[in-house]
Amino acid sequence: MNKLGVPCGTETSAERMHDHRRKVDSMANLTHLPMPLQESYDWQYEGACRGTDSAQFFSPDAERGSRRRSREDQAKLVCATCPVLDRCRDHALSAREPYGVWGGMTEQERAVVLSRPTLAG
Ligand code: SF4
Repeated sequence: MNKLGVPCGTETSAERMHDHRRKVDSMANLTHLPMPLQESYDWQYEGACRGTDSAQFFSPDAERGSRRRSREDQAKLVCATCPVLDRCRDHALSAREPYGVWGGMTEQERAVVLSRPTLAG
């Protein structure tokens, strides 16, 4: 199973996300990714999305408008029940995950948070 940040646990979705991640990794800032240690990703085994269809968390390329919002809202409902929501959100923000719902946040919501100036600078 892919251990590079896949939040969902089915073999089919994990394989799909692995292919997806390979494509997006070239666009992601890899310097922000946490070390690829087994311990770093153990929280994913506790995710409420484990075993669900990853398509609920990642939009198809052309998805827009109400269809997209509806899918994202459904994903966020799953996240709202998740025991590792905080760790997932922290990971997504620190890794600058470019796509998908992670920790109850869409990619657009993460972009807003990451664009804010920090107190440190
Ligand atoms: S917070 Fe959401 S995306 Fe993250 S592990 Fe939990 S259910 Fe999955």
